[in-house]
Amino acid sequence: MSPRTPLGVCVFQLPTSGHVNPLLPVLAELSARGARVVTTSVPMYAAALTETGAELVDYPPIVAQKAGVPPDGLADVCALLTSLTDHPLLDWSVALLTRERPDVVVVDSMAPWGRLAAKHLGIPCVCSSTTFVLHGNLDDSLEGKLSLLREVVTGAPKLGRYLRARRSVRRRWDLDPGMPVDLLAGLGDLTIAHTSRELQPGPEHFDDSVRYIGTAVRPASPLHPELDDLPGGPLVYASLGTLYNERPDFFRNVLAGLADHPGPVLLSVGHRLDPAALGQLPANAIVRPSVPQLAVLARAEAFITHGGMNSTTEALVHGVPMVFAPQTADQPLVAKRIAALGAGTVLRGQCPEPQAIRDAVADVRSSGARGRAAQLGRSLLACGGAGAAANVVEEAARGEGRSMAGVAQRAGSLVT
Ligand code: UDP
Repeated sequence: MSPRTPLGVCVFQLPTSGHVNPLLPVLAELSARGARVVTTSVPMYAAALTETGAELVDYPPIVAQKAGVPPDGLADVCALLTSLTDHPLLDWSVALLTRERPDVVVVDSMAPWGRLAAKHLGIPCVCSSTTFVLHGNLDDSLEGKLSLLREVVTGAPKLGRYLRARRSVRRRWDLDPGMPVDLLAGLGDLTIAHTSRELQPGPEHFDDSVRYIGTAVRPASPLHPELDDLPGGPLVYASLGTLYNERPDFFRNVLAGLADHPGPVLLSVGHRLDPAALGQLPANAIVRPSVPQLAVLARAEAFITHGGMNSTTEALVHGVPMVFAPQTADQPLVAKRIAALGAGTVLRGQCPEPQAIRDAVADVRSSGARGRAAQLGRSLLACGGAGAAANVVEEAARGEGRSMAGVAQRAGSLVT
């Protein structure tokens, strides 16, 4: 069946910055091509989503409440996603799609309710994977296996919640939310990977239903009204992203390590941390709850980051070398991969010592890391970005992904 004109697209977001931001240019591109895009939303992202030209449908209020609280480990994420799917989101999503009858559904790879609702109604589904696409052999190191084992042991009570909710969905809908790997990295008839084949670890684990669009982010101007008061000199920028950022100890160590740095040290500390917890600030320190990160990266000489996939990709696009202080989730993997590719260095522990931070910043500023970051950034930009992603959505709407449905191979599973 050929899609209607205009093309109808329904989008199921996972409402956190790291998942919404990479889709914004894709939705803008679809709207610019004439599609009618309806996207789920929570109040925090309403303005940014409206700017893309999409129509908004508010998720039930429980979603905004849960989105504001960082989950406690992988098992907690699985329990949360499955229990939200069970109640209220799968019923809600089926009702939304029944009303809208889109030609194609775009689902964040961590929004199983949208994927299952599309399957229930037989609508083609494109997943948006905002980090490396997961497979069982993603981290073969002893460290990686131990960390997974720790997650399973400490998360056991939460895994019980996940299993109960999974059973309930199966019973009520005859649909399976799947194993943890499916919840953390759902695959669609076609899957948009917001990275390149070069950066993805183990791309041979997937068939060509996974499409590497590089990144839809484009280099920003360094000029931004919120940065007018930033002093000159080599800028070091530090952030732990938007979720796992309540770490005054970490930010104090950054400030102590870089107190003699001959340029501004800009910290984005998030909205939950009281800047007073950082004590007396060195003269070169600037502390903000949040910054226009792309414009900051367009000026920065080095980026001290948790290794969130978006922050990392954005830094590469702006040719900024990174010092990684991974905290949790996919961050250790992202950090390890980018360091192995030569664009940064990984610190040990969640709260590295001031001297280690100082040495690592000096290292990435003086080594070839900057050139390597710029090279990787150019390779990401060359993959096509928002245009390539919109092509994937249109292809799926024509039913062309269907022949490939479900054949993407994952070796093993994260938790079996
Ligand atoms: N971000 C921002 N301003 C800030 C801090 C973060 O705009 O002060 C944006 C950043 O550009 C990125 C997203 O928030 O797009 C964070 O995503 P990431 O995957 O790096 O980390 P998460 O917050 O999911 O841990």
